[in-house]
Amino acid sequence: MHISKTDQINILIIDDETDMSEFVADAVTAIGHNAVAVSDADDFVRAYSTAFDIIILDLFMPKLDGIEIIRFLHENRSRASLILMSGKDKSILHSASELASERKMEVLGVLEKPFTIDQLEAVIGKFIPQKHRPQDPPSALPTEQGLRRGIEQREFFLAYQPQFDFKTGKIAGVEALLRWQHATRGLIHPGLFIPLAEQSGLINPLTEYVLEEAMAQMAKWRDYDITMSINVSPTTVVDLDMPEKLDDMIKARDIAPEKIIIELTETAIMENVSSYMDILTRLRMKNFNLSIDDFGTGYSSMQQLVRVPFNELKIDQSFIRQAITDRECQAVAQMSLSLAHGLNMHVVAEGIEDQSTYDWLKELGCEIGQGFLMSRPISPEEIEERFLS
Ligand code: C2E
Ligand code: MG
Ligand code: MG
Repeated sequence: MHISKTDQINILIIDDETDMSEFVADAVTAIGHNAVAVSDADDFVRAYSTAFDIIILDLFMPKLDGIEIIRFLHENRSRASLILMSGKDKSILHSASELASERKMEVLGVLEKPFTIDQLEAVIGKFIPQKHRPQDPPSALPTEQGLRRGIEQREFFLAYQPQFDFKTGKIAGVEALLRWQHATRGLIHPGLFIPLAEQSGLINPLTEYVLEEAMAQMAKWRDYDITMSINVSPTTVVDLDMPEKLDDMIKARDIAPEKIIIELTETAIMENVSSYMDILTRLRMKNFNLSIDDFGTGYSSMQQLVRVPFNELKIDQSFIRQAITDRECQAVAQMSLSLAHGLNMHVVAEGIEDQSTYDWLKELGCEIGQGFLMSRPISPEEIEERFLS
């Protein structure tokens, strides 16, 4: 492979095992990039400069460990991308990788020793030079004013993602997902505006819209045996009248409360369990279903989990998406399933993207599946055409 001078990448390799750093340096040079290899802390400090595009780092070194180097790079505002290597426990590679990501450093990949030149080349191949990176202008983020205008102009709508019963393969319900069709920017996903809505209080009119719209839809689907899952923000659940309001809404539309599933994220609830207990318990007493969303990303303790009156648990998609390929994700998914079953909750697996993951979950006794393999979020008309006719 020929790499022109301007495409050459500058790579710094830090490993106390000289054999290893030389092996990596030779491999890097062989594929046409520049390599500098160092084997201890002093050499590193001397060799380090902002000219390096990639830093290949051994996590375990006697004098200065990889974590300290990550801290150093962060403090020195390094823009280099990282490749982490280790001959030890893979879980440490994961933790270190997360630590670096939290510090806004890009991790191209992790390499478990021993690795091949092909594996090394594949990870280096993920590098995108700064000049080719898409720059998100700050204006790309919606503003509070923009959000307010969007609400006034009624630019919001709901997409519905179907959920399927593993036993029958049939549709069991839908999850309502909010979308913003911005006048000039096009479609904006909730990840970009929900946090802003929560901070600004604009989540209240938005939630009101979602509840109205989802309930109206459910009234039309009254004769089908499907549930409707609705995401609510923690700020909404502090409204003490919420159970009564919801009850009034379903009664006015002749919808059974058992068909409504209120989803709250694990992080949201566990931070403040006691303040939500009142409302959550009353919702359950009125026969609404309660679902704990994005399970595995928060920090529930067993004690908290048995206290909250949830009857559904949704395993976070980050674990499901990698359940087949990553041993740790698989363990989290499996544990969550047995924990939920032990506590009499049924389980929804979210983020099923391939058949092998689907088969694995079915085998494990997971009740409900949701994911791009079966369907993306779609319009209510499409739900009817594809799944209700
Ligand atoms: P969530 O409640 O966990 O919703 C599931 C998200 O996972 C949706 O993203 C869905 O499109 C995505 N997803 C489902 N299956 C797959 C898959 O197989 N692969 C991949 N890669 N993704 C999959 P979306 O619609 O962007 O929503 C993101 C989050 O925004 C939601 O996460 C939810 O927390 C929040 N959200 C959405 N609508 C509302 C709402 O009306 N109110 C509130 N408070 N939050 C909402
Ligand atoms: Mg959800
Ligand atoms: Mg989720």
